[in-house]
Amino acid sequence: MTDKGSKSEVLEKYFGYRAFREGQEEIIENILHGIDVLGIMPTGAGKSLCYQIPALMTEGVTLVISPLISLMKDQVNALVQSGIGAVYINSTISHSEYVEAVRGLFSGKYKLLYTAPERLSNAGFTDMCRSLNITLIAVDEAHCVSQWGQDFRPSYMAISEFIGKLDKRPVVAAFTATATEMVREDICRILELDHPFVLTTGYDRANLRFSVITADNKKEKLVSLIKERSAVSGIVYCATRSNVENIYDLLINEGISATLYHAGLTDRERLKNQEDFIDDKAIVMVATNAFGMGIDKSNVSYIIHYNMPRDIESYYQEAGRAGRDGEEAECILMYSPADVELHRFMIKNSEPNEMLSYTEQQKVRKHDYERLKHMTRYCTSNDCLRGFILEYFGEKPMSFCGKCSNCLTQYEITDITIEAQKIMSCIVRMKQRFGTSLVTDVLRGSNNRRISELGFNKLSTYGIMKDCSQSRVKQIINALVQKGYIEVSGGEYPVLKLTNRAAPVLRGEVKVTAKMQSNKPKKIAAAKTELSDDENEMLIRLKALRKDLAVKEKVPAYIVFSDAALADMCRKKPKNMQEFSEVAGVGRIKLERYGKDFLREINEKSLTH
Ligand code: ADP
Ligand code: ZN
Repeated sequence: MTDKGSKSEVLEKYFGYRAFREGQEEIIENILHGIDVLGIMPTGAGKSLCYQIPALMTEGVTLVISPLISLMKDQVNALVQSGIGAVYINSTISHSEYVEAVRGLFSGKYKLLYTAPERLSNAGFTDMCRSLNITLIAVDEAHCVSQWGQDFRPSYMAISEFIGKLDKRPVVAAFTATATEMVREDICRILELDHPFVLTTGYDRANLRFSVITADNKKEKLVSLIKERSAVSGIVYCATRSNVENIYDLLINEGISATLYHAGLTDRERLKNQEDFIDDKAIVMVATNAFGMGIDKSNVSYIIHYNMPRDIESYYQEAGRAGRDGEEAECILMYSPADVELHRFMIKNSEPNEMLSYTEQQKVRKHDYERLKHMTRYCTSNDCLRGFILEYFGEKPMSFCGKCSNCLTQYEITDITIEAQKIMSCIVRMKQRFGTSLVTDVLRGSNNRRISELGFNKLSTYGIMKDCSQSRVKQIINALVQKGYIEVSGGEYPVLKLTNRAAPVLRGEVKVTAKMQSNKPKKIAAAKTELSDDENEMLIRLKALRKDLAVKEKVPAYIVFSDAALADMCRKKPKNMQEFSEVAGVGRIKLERYGKDFLREINEKSLTH
């Protein structure tokens, strides 16, 4: 191993960062000492640097195995822009590009080679790798190797066989954001890691602000949430393709600059839409969970889940795509009980995995239901949301973060026995065959035609909660579900039913209390960077300059500089190259490439001010 400068120098020179984040240094150190590693770090924690820096510090080539072909181009692009020799080989490249890549690999022009796991079973590719001096293999999204994980990819199982074919076994470094015990064991066993150094960093992302919202009119609410954040970029996740299409149409009709992404689009459409979003041509991305794995757009300021995801793992991964630049960002989940039913339906009808036995499949399904339960509990809990997530991932719980929607809402323990009795008797009188919305409408005495058609306006419980707001009634129903007095069941259409805990309440033998909102929840303010008005004005100018440079160099804007770097320039107002190099995110290469242009923009206008 040759010494190409210390790892801190490499961090500074190529990436422009002054300090390592938690865990990075130890992982790099172990890799450099020839020890296999398993890095378990949440999305956005900075896993890529953990193998990119050793790649730059060692002889030979680092092979990066990454599941998503569509994103490889961006990953490699970003490295090349920072002056790092990197290339990818996958099904999207032409023959001449392939030849160029191979030539560059053998001449030492490229230190990093990105590829997809499927490629490893290609004989020609294996032969080439055998002649190359591969010293490190980095396996990104390593949980894909496990059948217990959420995104099992059979092609990941071929990795260890591929490694076996190389003359000298390289160091193997695996990375994932999924930390459950079973997945961790699978990764070590199936990838055949050799006495690996295992590191789990903290799961907390301090700059993310979590909230759960229930809205009577979700579409209206969504539009207003986005309009309140019109200056910044965000992602709206929906559970199904048709939902994505609907919401996309809605936003376009509202004059919002949006694009969309789901597996039903053609490759070309997906690529174009993704690029529009990355280049800030469209500021809102509406997508299914197919969008985002491995994507590095650092200036996403909010993630709104229009539907609840199926588990906390997925939620935290998707929500984690906000605020990767370290700026304050928001994760908003729009909860409705119908989503729980949708997921139950999907789990029940999920395609059997042919690689598993019947009993294993049953086990997997049971796990899916359990995970869904936790996700639902997150949405209906009144405790600190950040604390809930950290506890789920096995960290010590936090009871008050002070910035999630629950910490910002005032709750008080309220006796809801009377309301519970009214709701439960109404459910019984409606023969336990309807969902939350219709039950609420009957209780509040709505004139809805369906109610009179079904004759529910004649029930004794019709209108007995007229004085209670719709959202209050729904909140109480939620509380009763959470406490196990009512269960939500049924197939496609969720139905409220009483459990055997309900009878004593109806008979007046048991009191029910719940933590209820005392006043309206505080409005969730849009995250803002703490810049003064002048600095904000400068930020707008720097963004325009960044856009010009990006267009000229045909790269996405964030590759020139992240929003965080621009904000830091506005705060530090560097006067010369030395000062400019102290801005976070400015490495030597970018200093040389862009320093003068930005310095001019920063200083010209401040002089005339
Ligand atoms: P993930 O763990 O999700 O793969 P990435 O490797 O994509 O995360 O890193 C997320 C962001 O954090 C990137 O924009 C990256 O440049 C930035 N980053 C990584 N390490 C550092 C560091 N030591 N200091 C500042 N920013 C960093
Ligand atoms: Zn909190």
